[in-house]
Amino acid sequence: MEWGIINKENFKNKTSYDVPIKRWDPLSTVSIHTEGFGLRKERRYYGHYSYISPIRSERPRGFKSEEGEKNFLDCSKKVLGKYKDVFSSITEGKIVYDDWGTPLSDGYTMIITQDEIRRDNPFSDAPHRIERIPDACKALTLINRYPSMARIIDPDISENIVKNLPSHLKLSRGINLVTISRYFYPSLCFNLIPMDVLAGIFLSMRAAILYCIEESINRDYYDIPVMPFFNIGTKVGGSQPRIHSQIYIDLNMDGHGSRLEGYLEAFKEMGDKCHLCKTSHGGSDRIILETEFWTFYTTGSPVRNYHIRFHPNEHIRRFSQLKVNQIEDLAISLKMIFQALDDLKIDKNRNILFNCCPYGYDADFHMFADIIPHEVIGGAEMADDMRVARKLPHIAAKEIRNSLE
Ligand SMILES: [Zn+2]
Repeated sequence: MEWGIINKENFKNKTSYDVPIKRWDPLSTVSIHTEGFGLRKERRYYGHYSYISPIRSERPRGFKSEEGEKNFLDCSKKVLGKYKDVFSSITEGKIVYDDWGTPLSDGYTMIITQDEIRRDNPFSDAPHRIERIPDACKALTLINRYPSMARIIDPDISENIVKNLPSHLKLSRGINLVTISRYFYPSLCFNLIPMDVLAGIFLSMRAAILYCIEESINRDYYDIPVMPFFNIGTKVGGSQPRIHSQIYIDLNMDGHGSRLEGYLEAFKEMGDKCHLCKTSHGGSDRIILETEFWTFYTTGSPVRNYHIRFHPNEHIRRFSQLKVNQIEDLAISLKMIFQALDDLKIDKNRNILFNCCPYGYDADFHMFADIIPHEVIGGAEMADDMRVARKLPHIAAKEIRNSLE
């Protein structure tokens, strides 16, 4: 059931539990009543939910060993552009082998956007081999081969699965995308990725989101949460050494998580006094970097030490509304910030999470994002939406500001 496709052929000998499942936790899930948070009124929730997908465990591991990962931490090795990985067979348009003669992948893929050019339809059911990707290309957005949601389901099987699953479990529908650079750049050497490649990744993501949403709406999906993010390093979920981002597009039309509910309600309460448009972020001693288009600061309520939050200075709701000059400036700024964090010897395993207003919601929202360096967390932190941090945010900001100079 690779690529989120469930058909008669691959469902043979499988049960209703062998498909991607979405499960809302009954102890933390309640109905959405707020006007504007979605068009559909009935059976929509916010709370904690899990995607449970058996196919996720079958994805290839890009780092062969801890030693392998260490290699990618050492950015002085400069494997830039040369290293062969699981994506090489796609970008080169032919089977690429490792040094021991083993094929790195079969070269099959589905390309949603090549840079910003639309290619395969987001609901295509035909993975295929491709010709070599041109040298000038910066980034490709692909359908994730090992998704946590199903994209295309044979109607007979769908009916059968729904009948067999208990009512609190549902077959999870959605599109999982992965955006990669055309040439190999190790994600753990984030600051070494050329600006135009990083900007190319953002541009390809933006074009792919718009294409997927357009095609989803054509198929009568609405109220669609979209989550763009980077997992950089194995400790934070990045299973491939090549720089890549992901996008989760949830097509279950059944609501959103409790954290997003918190953000949506907070912006609703602010009304036209948007905190991100007005605040000086604690008298500006927490601001790290201000450009024409973006503001970076350490949050006053960090979820990790050195938790950085950033937002476009323009009050826009979604990643897909970013303009080219904002995207280019973001690429430059992120490289600088990551270099500063590297210089401070902060763990190179980091997540970048973009928080956006779902499509179809008539909610006020100011898009923002988080950079969260990896740390081991404790028990109390698993029990509630709470974190214990030791670093004072304004001190962290000062250290990063000094490191930027
Ligand atoms: Zn705002």
